[in-house]
Amino acid sequence: MLLNHGQELLKGDVNTGLRSVALEALQKRSVEVILGAAATAVRPDSVEYTRDGKSQTLSASTVIWTAGTATNPLIKNLPIAAEHRDQHGYLQVTPTLQLPDFPEVFAAGDCAFTKENPQPPLAQVAYQQAAAIAHNLKALALGRDLKPSTVHLRGTLMKLGIEDSVANIFDRLELKGEVGHLIRQGTYLEMLPTPVHDFNVTKEWLNDEIVNRYIGGDETKTAVRALEVVGGVVVGALVARKLLQMLGQEHKDDKS
Ligand SMILES: Cc1cc2nc3c(=O)[nH]c(=O)nc-3n(C[C@H](O)[C@H](O)[C@H](O)COP(=O)(O)OP(=O)(O)OC[C@H]3O[C@@H](n4cnc5c(N)ncnc54)[C@H](O)[C@@H]3O)c2cc1C
Repeated sequence: MLLNHGQELLKGDVNTGLRSVALEALQKRSVEVILGAAATAVRPDSVEYTRDGKSQTLSASTVIWTAGTATNPLIKNLPIAAEHRDQHGYLQVTPTLQLPDFPEVFAAGDCAFTKENPQPPLAQVAYQQAAAIAHNLKALALGRDLKPSTVHLRGTLMKLGIEDSVANIFDRLELKGEVGHLIRQGTYLEMLPTPVHDFNVTKEWLNDEIVNRYIGGDETKTAVRALEVVGGVVVGALVARKLLQMLGQEHKDDKS
């Protein structure tokens, strides 16, 4: 059972366009979705929630909380006026990522927002804004002009279940199901911090997907699976390379 606070899945999320795919994946796995339900308490054997103004109790011994994050108290307690915050208490920054009242202070990522170009709270946004701050700190030190931060969203690799994902690549191409799963997995593996990490984890994954899962099974099935998984790794590696190249290119642009 899935309790969702909003009346729609993925409401206000960068992945809103994938709503029907996500719902379909949940329905396929017989997940009952309860929309408009606000959890009010989690107990050892139940979850309490309100829906349409009524309080309800759901028996459950395993509860998984995935409702995201709250504003950090440090951010909440900063001496920043309410007019320079949003409804969550996050900090308004200028396009150059400075606090309007304290231009010597920069903020980025989940705790900050710009009125001019609001961005979703995603790692890919925080990453790109961090590069913009580095550039602007240097510009400030050298007495040069500061540059407004620009963010390019790269698409989404979303897990929908076991061996089921949707890969929305660069917001141009959408691949679902097992193909999406293989590309998602392959991309993440090839984006690990060092080639040694990439190699070791890819090796383990291939071993797990091909050898362990189909051990003693029919050989044709194993061969087809091997081809599929290797295909996933190759496409994933290409996507990951392109993503890293784009980040590297931006970093180079920032340096120049
Ligand atoms: C369950 C979940 C899944 C997600 N999945 C994705 C995803 O698939 N793709 C994606 O792009 N984004 C995803 N996100 C969002 C992504 O994690 C955030 O957007 C990103 O981490 C924001 O980076 P940040 O640097 O702004 O903040 P954070 O990554 O939260 O970093 C803030 C840091 O500040 C530290 N800190 C806090 N208080 C103090 C203090 N007083 N002193 C010093 N340090 C302090 C914290 O320990 C933390 O390390 C997910 C988020 C959640 C919660």
